[in-house]
Amino acid sequence: MKYDVIIIGAGPGGIFSAYELVKNNKGLKVAVFEKGHRLDKRKCPIDGEKVRSCINCPTCAIMSGFGGAGAFSDGKYNITNDFGGTLYEHIGKKAALELMRYVDEINMSHGGENSKLYSTAGSDFKRICVQNRLNLLNAEVRHLGTDVNYVVLGNIYDELKDKVDFHFDTPVEDLEILDGGYRVIFKGGEAVCDKCIVSVGRSGSSWMQKICDTHKIDTCSNRVDLGVRVELPAVVFEHLTSELYESKIVYQTEKFEDNVRTFCMNPHGIVVNENTNGIITVNGHSFEDASKKTDNTNFALLVSKHFSEPFKNSNEYGESIARLSNMLGGGVIIQRFGDLMRGRRSTVKRIEESTVRPTLNATPGDLSLVLPKRILDGIIEMIYALDKIAPGTANDDTLLYGVEVKFYNMEVLLNENLETNFPGLYIIGDGSGVTHSLSHASASGVYVARHICG
Ligand SMILES: Cc1cc2nc3c(=O)[nH]c(=O)nc-3n(C[C@H](O)[C@H](O)[C@H](O)COP(=O)(O)OP(=O)(O)OC[C@H]3O[C@@H](n4cnc5c(N)ncnc54)[C@H](O)[C@@H]3O)c2cc1C
Repeated sequence: MKYDVIIIGAGPGGIFSAYELVKNNKGLKVAVFEKGHRLDKRKCPIDGEKVRSCINCPTCAIMSGFGGAGAFSDGKYNITNDFGGTLYEHIGKKAALELMRYVDEINMSHGGENSKLYSTAGSDFKRICVQNRLNLLNAEVRHLGTDVNYVVLGNIYDELKDKVDFHFDTPVEDLEILDGGYRVIFKGGEAVCDKCIVSVGRSGSSWMQKICDTHKIDTCSNRVDLGVRVELPAVVFEHLTSELYESKIVYQTEKFEDNVRTFCMNPHGIVVNENTNGIITVNGHSFEDASKKTDNTNFALLVSKHFSEPFKNSNEYGESIARLSNMLGGGVIIQRFGDLMRGRRSTVKRIEESTVRPTLNATPGDLSLVLPKRILDGIIEMIYALDKIAPGTANDDTLLYGVEVKFYNMEVLLNENLETNFPGLYIIGDGSGVTHSLSHASASGVYVARHICG
């Protein structure tokens, strides 16, 4: 197996590299190695009846396979440099935005054409937020929705499958550096290439770290985001979500001057479990299909933590806190805001009597026993700040699920071409620590493909 370019990982970063490589140079021999399944074979065994919780499959169908971690996501493509990654630090703000727009065009021409583009430009909410000590970040948001996102991925795969060699269910075990090329080693075989694009995402973080250690590629520690997912009646945020869909709002706490921010807003959506290396955390989805919409909106409130000396592993800190919630709740914990403020745990009865019907079956408990005081204080302050622009946020029946953790990869030292100190070895997407979103990861793939094609 000899290729011009091998891509490791078929998430958005890998897919958009492959797309752009064969578009710009039809003669290129390109292969993608992916540890998960083809898109149509990706199915989580949890059905809520026979299989009620994670059975730790060898490769997680939610996180791995064609489409990567984003395949069953809400499909929110944020076109902005204000969040979602720091790609602009390598390639410049203008180029980063242009690439995100280009990715949007491709999604639109592959089944996403009827989805809506929201924008904060000219929104009066900027003023209202500022007047309440809140900062609404600038962004355009293309919301595909979980269902349309899946259709778009399927269409892109159909277009690529005859032009690119896809090797599914093939985890790459090792990467060797040759004189003028690379050897990719997997169970039962190997392949060589002139150039290699590594796009292994969050799920490939330990593998990525191992490769960096072996080849002495420098990395530095990244942050971890910790907090809760808030669920409330959709009407409370309707004025914001109908205009902006997702509003990324940052609040600086009075007490500690920590930044708390909203993250991943899902109007009329559902709260879901997320499994990261066997640890159950919480996330959210929403659908474009009107029949799947709920009466609730959910979003996360997160605080970033970054450790340096002597403890460097921010992710390990996040994992320990998530483990604590799993120990106390057997999974995700749910608590009414009113119970949290009164210093008591939620019970099944109190949740049943609540006016907000939870969309996730979680264990009623006490989040103050899980989250560090400083983080919890910040979240409570922000809930009261949000209550000023969306009255009802701080109602007793508002539901909090915990914990939500956003893990980030170690950041790999890369040049302006997203290339390591080994010429022709590129590291892109979330696996590089440079991006943390669908749009930035995809844009990084296009960028590197164009650099390779010259
Ligand atoms: C539930 C959920 C919802 C999300 N919602 C959104 C959203 O609405 N908007 C947004 O911007 N972002 C969202 N994200 C984040 C987004 O999915 C990621 O930022 C994006 O997928 C990163 O793309 P990537 O290509 O870098 O990595 P990934 O999508 O993680 O893809 C990496 C791929 O590499 C494969 N791989 C790993 N190691 C190996 C190996 N050794 N050999 C072969 N293959 C390997 C993995 O199986 C995986 O398929 C969400 C994430 C989750 C989990």
